[in-house]
Amino acid sequence: MLNFTVGPVMSGDAVRAIGGEQVPYFRTQEFSEIMFQNERLMLEFAGAPEGSRAAFMTGSGTASMEATVINVLTPSDKVIVVNGGSFGQRFVELCQIHRIPHTEIHLDYCEPLTEAHLAPLADKDYTALLVNMGETSTGVLYDMPMISRFCKENHLLLIVDAISTFLADPFDMSALGADVMITGSQKALACPPGVSIIVLSPVALDRVEKNPTTCMYLDLKGALKNGERGQTPFTPAVGVLLQINRRLNDIKLQGGVHAEVMRMSELAADFRSKVSVLPFRMASPSPSNAVTSLYSLATPAYEIFTVLKDEYQIWICPNGGDLRDKIFRVGHIGALTKEDNTVLVEAMLDMEKRGIIK
Ligand SMILES: *Cc1c(COP(=O)(O)O)cnc(C)c1O
Repeated sequence: MLNFTVGPVMSGDAVRAIGGEQVPYFRTQEFSEIMFQNERLMLEFAGAPEGSRAAFMTGSGTASMEATVINVLTPSDKVIVVNGGSFGQRFVELCQIHRIPHTEIHLDYCEPLTEAHLAPLADKDYTALLVNMGETSTGVLYDMPMISRFCKENHLLLIVDAISTFLADPFDMSALGADVMITGSQKALACPPGVSIIVLSPVALDRVEKNPTTCMYLDLKGALKNGERGQTPFTPAVGVLLQINRRLNDIKLQGGVHAEVMRMSELAADFRSKVSVLPFRMASPSPSNAVTSLYSLATPAYEIFTVLKDEYQIWICPNGGDLRDKIFRVGHIGALTKEDNTVLVEAMLDMEKRGIIK
């Protein structure tokens, strides 16, 4: 089986081996040391400014998006949400549910965010901007330096969902002036699902400290306080945290975050060049290294997904809704190689020979 979806993705052998072991008791000094190391490596790889902290939440990426909205923001904020797909829409719904006043920048499928979208919102009373650095549903990577400039000029807190782009595309909290970065275990961290991580700048930490607590399980005050002794308030996904530890240490040994982003960038470029002989068109003009969205010119996209799954044991990512038969996505995150790209493209060429792909 080869998995080219955008999560859960394939894990390396070392991470998988940990999954076969017994899960240890966690209220121990040994587990605390592992959590200290996890936090240190996350802060380093995120380029977090001095005094930042990382909280490890048991729950998928959405749990950390919600924890961010309810702990960092309050109904006296006024926020801008970039909504270019289903994950942007999720931030909009979180703001609705938690009564955070918000203005949505609604983008069409694969439409890039430009200065023209932001300009009308300058010099207003906004306090924060929420963006999914990579909108995984479309494969679009937003122009983060442009967003960063806008936030700095307008003194906005910058909250970044980097769930699919962390370790896949260049990102540096300090350089961008980002205050929150969110990621999840089952994307480029290439571990099983179950843990998401929130990195908070000193400014964001100060907000968490001052804002009222409105939820027990997703309370960041408690998570951060417990983190000071390498612990979590409730039983975490202990096994996944051990797998994350292994993966973070492996990245460190293999040259750090820059080397990992380079590897992903080469893998994505390799696939895009190999697939160019097929009757597909790149859907996103500014693609993330994490995923390639392809527009299928004649063959229903969903059929390509089904045949690859049932007849070639290869998983790609179908799209839902109106685009089900137009677009499919190929992920590059996880333990994939250039040889795997060749296997996928050869399967597609075989489907073309059989008359399935036209
Ligand atoms: C995967 C993903 C999420 C979170 O999804 P979960 O299913 O809750 O893990 C959020 N934002 C983006 C951009 C994602 O790619």
